Amino acid sequence: MTSRRDELATRLGEVRARIDRAASAAGRDTGDVELVVVTKYFPASDVNHLVDLGVRHIGENKDQEAGAKVAEIARRDEVTVHFIGQLQSNKAGHVAAYADVVQSVDRAKIVTALDRGAQRHGRRLDVLLQVALDDDEGRGGARPGDVPALADLVEDAEALRLRGVMAVAPLGGDPRRAFARLREVADGIRAGHPDATWVSAGMSADLEDAVAEGATHLRVGTAILGTRPSLG
Ligand SMILES: *Cc1c(COP(=O)(O)O)cnc(C)c1O
Repeated sequence: MTSRRDELATRLGEVRARIDRAASAAGRDTGDVELVVVTKYFPASDVNHLVDLGVRHIGENKDQEAGAKVAEIARRDEVTVHFIGQLQSNKAGHVAAYADVVQSVDRAKIVTALDRGAQRHGRRLDVLLQVALDDDEGRGGARPGDVPALADLVEDAEALRLRGVMAVAPLGGDPRRAFARLREVADGIRAGHPDATWVSAGMSADLEDAVAEGATHLRVGTAILGTRPSLG
């Protein structure tokens, strides 16, 4: 019988091979593309297998489970925890206690709440602005036109550091076109914020398109961990 660790090792290898191929097709260095393994709904034991297998970036999107799970990571200081889920301002202070990067900042209220939370916990957070690439408000994200003002707000926040942008490709749309649009938004803010070099795009189904359009961070769950258990 294959162990869970072996299963994760195999799928991780497959995803890394996909990234290598995509980077080479795009004429990019594969080392410039960071893999964030999205472990939401999976147990801390899986996170620890992944860390053992060399994963150094994990992504979580539900505050309810993420805090406790992060506390169980064996080599926590070697791991960067990315919060990638929709945020409410009353939860932001809690996320600031355990996340290292918050990728889903999409409005002024969240900037203020995260900054306050980070200061209270004596921490500094890297922040990405989530950009909405369609008109579906339900999935979160700031409109591209609102991104420059939000970027300035993050820059002025004492405990936050603006690192770039993040997006999820619209359902049913062409991911490559969406990621090309995201790249334009990223270029637009980099003029005034030279540290904002990260572009988080691409998931299990569309990571090749994201690499082709310059993504620096991929968020991959299903292709490594398998189909997520339902929340019952
Ligand atoms: C769950 C999730 C992912 C991972 O998606 P997969 O299709 O399982 O790879 C990426 N980004 C966000 C924002 C997510 O919530």
